[in-house]
Amino acid sequence: MTVHFPFQNTYAALPPNFFARVAPTPVNSPRLVKLNRALAIHLGLDPELLASPEGAEILAGTRLPDGADPIAMAYAGHQFGQFVPQLGDGRAILLGEVIDADGVRRDIQLKGSGPTPFSRLGDGRAALGPVLREYIVSEAMATLGIPTTRSLAAVVTGESVMRETVLPGAVLTRVASSHIRVGTFQFLAARGDTEGVRRLADHVIARHYPQAASAERPYHALLEGVIVRQAELIARWLLIGFIHGVMNTDNTSISGETIDYGPCAFMDHYDPATVFSSIDQQGRYAYANQPPIALWNLVRFAECLLPLLADQQEKAIAEAKDLLDTFAGKFSTAHQAGLRKKIGLFSAREGDEALVQDLLDAMAKNQADFTLAFRRLAEAARDRANDGAVRQLFADPTAFDEWAARWRQRTADEPQPAEERRNAMRAVNPAFIPRNHRIEAVIKAAVNGNDYAPFEELLTVLSKPFDDQPEYAGYAEPPQPEQRVLQTFCGT
Ligand code: AMP
Ligand code: MG
Repeated sequence: MTVHFPFQNTYAALPPNFFARVAPTPVNSPRLVKLNRALAIHLGLDPELLASPEGAEILAGTRLPDGADPIAMAYAGHQFGQFVPQLGDGRAILLGEVIDADGVRRDIQLKGSGPTPFSRLGDGRAALGPVLREYIVSEAMATLGIPTTRSLAAVVTGESVMRETVLPGAVLTRVASSHIRVGTFQFLAARGDTEGVRRLADHVIARHYPQAASAERPYHALLEGVIVRQAELIARWLLIGFIHGVMNTDNTSISGETIDYGPCAFMDHYDPATVFSSIDQQGRYAYANQPPIALWNLVRFAECLLPLLADQQEKAIAEAKDLLDTFAGKFSTAHQAGLRKKIGLFSAREGDEALVQDLLDAMAKNQADFTLAFRRLAEAARDRANDGAVRQLFADPTAFDEWAARWRQRTADEPQPAEERRNAMRAVNPAFIPRNHRIEAVIKAAVNGNDYAPFEELLTVLSKPFDDQPEYAGYAEPPQPEQRVLQTFCGT
């Protein structure tokens, strides 16, 4: 039986040095463990077909759908500050592109689908645990309204992968508005392939920044557009307590989506120095370091574009620098606007920044849970009788009282009724995030006990992060000390 996907591939038509043509490697006995039916429909794919045995074979890479033009994309990247001229999709294969119900082009990629010419010493495979983590966190980010790649499906392969221990193998089907990274530009720029950089820039403009095409200087507009989206994305991460964990340039998407969920995690108690990733020993990618690191990555992107910006290098550098200098302000504007909303301010005033910062400082000093503090603050906004639930999150509850008095003074000046403030706060401060200890428990049940009920339940809870869902109240709670997860692993 042949299965047709409505592919309309454009990346595979770019110059041949941009990728390697390679088919996925068939696996033993693929079994679908999760299908994102709503996403399938949005992509114009038949969920019944994908849920069938043939569908599982496609999602495992064992059977190629009609119209696929499978490729592994070439890219380079700075990993923890060190340039590696050739990385590329070592365990991912792009099947092709489809146009979704919104008219947006989407890559459909298998991750863990076997070796490619870019695998280096890797096996091209993925373990079940990291596949489930990516599925959970990427879908949670989407529901929280943060630009992200999506997860269409997870299959187990029936084969084992060797990591520190022997683990079940799995394949994730990832959907992105593209998989083009800062590192994709670096791959071409490092080879002195200026024509290639131009071709890639033109492709990216047509695909992600169409308004840049009609700008007076399209490549300047492209750089500016990428800077704006990164600034806004990182602000969103900080506002929700997300730590990516591996913000290498090869994990920085040009489209402005969160990409490459590895040792990522959400913070429980607020601490700007939080790091989870086992491979980030210096804290380079700590929570509060994410904005300067994003800028560092954008500087690497700008370096690739220099030959397109001006004929004279000095002029190109000066113009790139002017654009890069806007990052800090753009980030800060987005971040501060988000923080004001988190504490329920409808207007902007001098002193607001200090007011929020003082709350964050008190939270850090008192180990207050980041998500719960803001969520419960919404109820305190309605009625100060609800202060107790916020106070008790602070090691020294009086730290909250002092702050709350100033906060009430500030909000009293605004005309909106308390109920409206409370509702606005609840719409930006989720009750449920994918807490690390929950993810670990889900993975354990699936990997050790072949039990996917906890995975399904967690996904159910996270599908409505802004609803109270009293029947799932436990999922809102931070870990008990013995449940705390201190490290996360790439699992590669
Ligand atoms: P990551 O840390 O997942 O962003 O991966 C960094 C680079 O290593 C990318 O080029 C990946 O394709 C490659 N890689 C990671 N894991 C594997 C694996 N198991 N087999 C082959 N390549 C891999
Ligand atoms: Mg990566």
